[in-house]
Amino acid sequence: MQDSDIKKVEYDLPQMQSGAVCVANAWARVPAELSVQRKEELKDRIRRLLKEKNATLVAHYYVDGDIQDLAEETGGCVADSLEMARFGRDNPAQTLVVAGVRFMGETAKILSPDKKILMPDLDACCSLDLGCPIEEFTAFCDAHPDRTVVVYANTSAAVKARADWMATSSIGLDIVKHLHAQGKKILWGPDRHLGSYIQEQTGADMLLWQGSCLVHDEFKAAELAFMKKEYPDAKVLVHPESPASVVALADVVGSTSQIINAARNMAAQTFIVATDKGIFHKMQQAVPGKTLIEAPTAGNGATCKSCAQCPWMAMNSLSNLAEVLEKEHNEISVDPEIGKKAIVCIQRMLDFAAEHKNRPQGREAVLTSGMGAA
Ligand code: SF4
Repeated sequence: MQDSDIKKVEYDLPQMQSGAVCVANAWARVPAELSVQRKEELKDRIRRLLKEKNATLVAHYYVDGDIQDLAEETGGCVADSLEMARFGRDNPAQTLVVAGVRFMGETAKILSPDKKILMPDLDACCSLDLGCPIEEFTAFCDAHPDRTVVVYANTSAAVKARADWMATSSIGLDIVKHLHAQGKKILWGPDRHLGSYIQEQTGADMLLWQGSCLVHDEFKAAELAFMKKEYPDAKVLVHPESPASVVALADVVGSTSQIINAARNMAAQTFIVATDKGIFHKMQQAVPGKTLIEAPTAGNGATCKSCAQCPWMAMNSLSNLAEVLEKEHNEISVDPEIGKKAIVCIQRMLDFAAEHKNRPQGREAVLTSGMGAA
């Protein structure tokens, strides 16, 4: 790929005031740490309720480790958003409890409109979703009718209904490569870092919405470079929602599943990991003998070098999980008309994933070829 093959597209995003994001409410709702005894009581209650209600727990890698363990132990799954969507659709349970953020529950509902989809907290959202309001995004798409609209999973049902394709971080690069090979010009939203990374890897003509993940946006390249010097044998694993300067320092760029697989398959004993710290739970289980270090999110003078925690993911707790199973009050609903439109782009992605072997992307493909997403 030559630099000259990459068409630079000017940024022409409309004003985004209505997509402004504030996390104060989310942090205020993050439940307090529980005693060991209280945790055990709640876990027993959740196990019992899942059985009684014939419900299945589907959890994301970024939620509380106890919830992840419960999901696996009770026959549910812990996964990235692509696998969560597939698993929820194919699971026979009529009630799914989705521990993650709102777009994950909506995707489950769109794929299984007849199932009851519950979430521990319906206000658990995502800065990418909040930063991409449907009115502005529609105007953006309407201004560029010659482009195929590809949206990241982290969007509302209404935004998906406006899109031609949905993509996740584990399959976005393959989808864009496929569309680029067909000569399609792409409008990508909402994550600008993931969009830029895919544009750089594929050379596709991509017009990018300028959203970002507030967790990954915080990783700092200069501090990461210092850390690499401190741990010269460590390999750096980076989620592509991170800024380009951080991605440039990565040995592997990939989705959560791909990052875990990289740690498992690479010979290195130490890894610096740039994604939400929730991933460390599953990752350490996958590589018990290896050392995992959080990538830095703050500069030299900071007392805390890394928080890397999504406040909305942190809103999922054992307490509200038990409560939602008991009361069945936090049910996700999607307007059926919007759902019928949104399923088209989701199904397109799932069909594509089924047809194409889900291979790792970018540097990861070079370093760990043959490794698939979990
Ligand atoms: S970690 Fe970032 S992308 Fe994921 S849910 Fe939180 S804000 Fe959204």
